[in-house]
Amino acid sequence: MPVLLRRLLLSLCLVVVAPLVMASDAAFNRAFGDDWLAQYWQRNPDYAVSVGYYQVAGLLPAPTAANRRRYIGWLDVQLRQIAGFDLATLSPAARSDLAVLKTQLESERWTLTTLKSWQWNPSQYNVAEPIALLLSTGYASEPQRLRTVQRRLQQVPAYYAAAKAAISHPTREHTRLAIEQNTGALEVLGAALETQVAGSQLTAGERSAFLRSLRLARAAVSDYIDWLKALDARLGRDGNARSFRLGEALYEQKFAYDIQSGSTGRQLYERALAEKERLHARMSVLADQLWPRYFPGTTPPADRVQKIAQLIARLSEQHTTREGFVDEVKRQIPLLEAFVRDHDLLTLDASRPLQVRETPAYQRGFSIASVNAPGPYDPTAKTFYNVSPLDDYTPEQAASFLSEYNRWQLQVLNIHEAVPGHYVQLVYANKSPSRIKTLFGNGAMIEGWAVYSEKMMLEAGWGGHEAEMEFIHSKWLLRVTTNTILDYGIHVLNWGEQQVLDLIRNDAFQSETEARGKWRRASLSQVQLTSYFAGYSAIYDYRERLKQQLGDRFDLKRFHEHFLGYGSAPVAVIESLMKPEDAIRNP
Ligand code: ZN
Repeated sequence: MPVLLRRLLLSLCLVVVAPLVMASDAAFNRAFGDDWLAQYWQRNPDYAVSVGYYQVAGLLPAPTAANRRRYIGWLDVQLRQIAGFDLATLSPAARSDLAVLKTQLESERWTLTTLKSWQWNPSQYNVAEPIALLLSTGYASEPQRLRTVQRRLQQVPAYYAAAKAAISHPTREHTRLAIEQNTGALEVLGAALETQVAGSQLTAGERSAFLRSLRLARAAVSDYIDWLKALDARLGRDGNARSFRLGEALYEQKFAYDIQSGSTGRQLYERALAEKERLHARMSVLADQLWPRYFPGTTPPADRVQKIAQLIARLSEQHTTREGFVDEVKRQIPLLEAFVRDHDLLTLDASRPLQVRETPAYQRGFSIASVNAPGPYDPTAKTFYNVSPLDDYTPEQAASFLSEYNRWQLQVLNIHEAVPGHYVQLVYANKSPSRIKTLFGNGAMIEGWAVYSEKMMLEAGWGGHEAEMEFIHSKWLLRVTTNTILDYGIHVLNWGEQQVLDLIRNDAFQSETEARGKWRRASLSQVQLTSYFAGYSAIYDYRERLKQQLGDRFDLKRFHEHFLGYGSAPVAVIESLMKPEDAIRNP
């Protein structure tokens, strides 16, 4: 059905566009269509498996210097071909595809030639995830999938030999992460897989060949772990490990490739500082309003931070129960959908319902709630909203979790993850006829949309304009805002651990555990933590500018639908393609 729809859309386009545009678009689509993607997947089989493209699943290219050189050469050829297109002759859709693709390929080239994380980040070498996906996804019969896994296993020893040759002068943080995560990889290659093979329909010969490859692969992973442990000890002794901090030049370049919101890292950092101040001031006003209701007969502390912290603690006492958590999430989704419909915020696609379920065991332990969306190669598959039941939590952990996701915050979480946040955005993205934009989606646009949708729902009256809702949501926005501040602070301004922990605890009102986890995440990643605030503020600003420009004629629903219709393209690219008329009310 979607294929048919796509053809229909395509033929409609052919009728309305001018002949010159048509010819250039056709040339672009021929050059960078499915055949081109097949070449790309051939060179990036792990990524292919993660998006549901299995034709190359048996490949595991070794990260050798020769392979890197060949790949850079291939990228150069593609970039030259892209440069040959005259932008003026392309339709907006093709122009945005071209922009997304160009940035993707340039960013890959920059990562290999300038950032060189293949040298200093040993955790980028790990064979487990695609194998786990091939074992758990029913895209083909079990024997067929096991044969594919075996082809991969045979290449594992060469893969880790090349990884060891590539690494020089790594950071200790990434070395230790690699030890941890490759130890996890041994589990994927462990006893459960042996049992699965023994009970499978492979022939006796195939089974013993599989087990032989499996043993050799395990030995290669173990050897890599031992080698990394010795390396880590040496780095500790000699004190010459690379710093995990990126420094200003690399940070700004990575920011430009990853975020694409039209600002620099420095500008976003400064904006986040101002936003933090604004949120504190607003929360202080709200706290004064709410104080008599929650602390009758007492005067609030003179210190603003103390006052806000005390009110957060009091409001967080209102929450659902441990047993009722998953059901409460299920109850809220239809209410959110009804609100979006009744308030004319967006059209929801009733044919692509969201299914709320308990997170499957093999996916637990990462996040409490997440959306499992079908990739562009399987757009008819179901979309799941995974919610982890609190069964494995100790009473203390459950209590702390339930206060964090209290009565108000849980609603914000459901808006962010599901309606009209990630789930709704993904349904629109899968409908946009561009594979390129769906595949090379921009993280800042995706996270920015989810955060923007929270604010938009509250503005439209979700929660009945309750001061408690705005107050708790502001605490959530503070987290997003301080993530941006600390990422820049750590990587560019050299902030130490204590300074960062203080910021998270005192300025963003987060727990000790949250603060320590954040420090670790910020030292292992770069720029990613800023994507929420970057995307959110870019989308919000753009909407406000259009509102100002169009006055009464501005139509929120049309704005949302046109905006999402470009797929997960960077906000700056969408902005360059949308016209003010796209946000005008239908006469
Ligand atoms: Zn999100």
